[in-house]
Amino acid sequence: METKSVYIHIPFCKKICSYCDFCKVFYNEKWTKKYLSCLKKEIQDRYLDEEIETLYIGGGTPSALSINELKSLFRIVKLFKLNNLKEFTFECNPSDISRELIELLKKNNVNRISIGIESFDNNNLKFMNRECSFEDINEKINLIKEIGINNINVDLIYALPNESMNTLRKDLKLINKLDVNHVSTYSLMIEPNTMLSYLNTKPINEDADARMYNIICRYLKKHGFNHYEVSNFAKEGFESKHNLVYWNNEEYYGFGVGASGYIQGVRYDNTKSLGDYLKGNYLKTSSILSKDEIMEYEVILGLRKCEGINIREFYNKYHINIQSQYPNINELIRSKDLIYKNGYLFINPDKLYIMNEVLVKLI
Ligand code: SF4
Repeated sequence: METKSVYIHIPFCKKICSYCDFCKVFYNEKWTKKYLSCLKKEIQDRYLDEEIETLYIGGGTPSALSINELKSLFRIVKLFKLNNLKEFTFECNPSDISRELIELLKKNNVNRISIGIESFDNNNLKFMNRECSFEDINEKINLIKEIGINNINVDLIYALPNESMNTLRKDLKLINKLDVNHVSTYSLMIEPNTMLSYLNTKPINEDADARMYNIICRYLKKHGFNHYEVSNFAKEGFESKHNLVYWNNEEYYGFGVGASGYIQGVRYDNTKSLGDYLKGNYLKTSSILSKDEIMEYEVILGLRKCEGINIREFYNKYHINIQSQYPNINELIRSKDLIYKNGYLFINPDKLYIMNEVLVKLI
């Protein structure tokens, strides 16, 4: 299988969010310079010269880099063969968006922008240690469109400990007003080693979380978004091509500190230590997957998609019937956790919010 996708991780942030357990450090000019030269070296060492169709620069906060640093980053991106490039996403923090930045992105073939809005509610923002205002974002989204990038995602975080259903509804209403074509949603998790866990924050109860998930699904569906993955919603034709590579269990490169990849049957994780990465010790772990493990990934990732898994394609790929590999499927269909329809196996939409429990029973 030829690798057609690349993820690049930029770990620098100007401010640290209270819930964040991603691989990130405070922005620092000296480290950024060094990081970019290590990133270049890692790509030169590993990239096997395939034509790349989807590129995703995420973080951290890629937009935290200065214009000159971004110019260096885009010179590194030119190492890839990009004649067949279909989707090039760049993550932006709202406060970094400027005409100069977006024009630079456009000039370098970025055609999709992902903005970490998370919420418009002042209490929510304060709790997350973030900033954002509807008026500001609305203006910036108009600017992005004016410069010619029309594929825009926004991120929304919900299920904060003191969040009410009304706050969530207000956030959804404002997001809809922005007229974007993709929304990624995240239920707040209190992860270890984050500010929230140090403050001993307790998560919202599961019932409220499930009700919020239902409000989101119903609202976005009503407003023209297709619910295509457990947490992702897109207007027709704007499903993320890059993320579908992950959910379709296809191979991809991951470059940068903390990045993961899947190349030639090997899944690998880069080191999360910036110090190690800057010394050129990129890799932390890698493992060659057995056929059973590859099938397990196919099922776990494939069932994240609302359309589910194409049974015939599964058979053609692995020469084994999915029901023989996972005999619990029949029981889960009987209990209505899974649905089998028109050649696809998928999680009952009413059970999507407890998807992990269904997967545990399945595998
Ligand atoms: S959530 Fe994003 S912007 Fe916030 S600290 Fe983490 S990586 Fe940085």
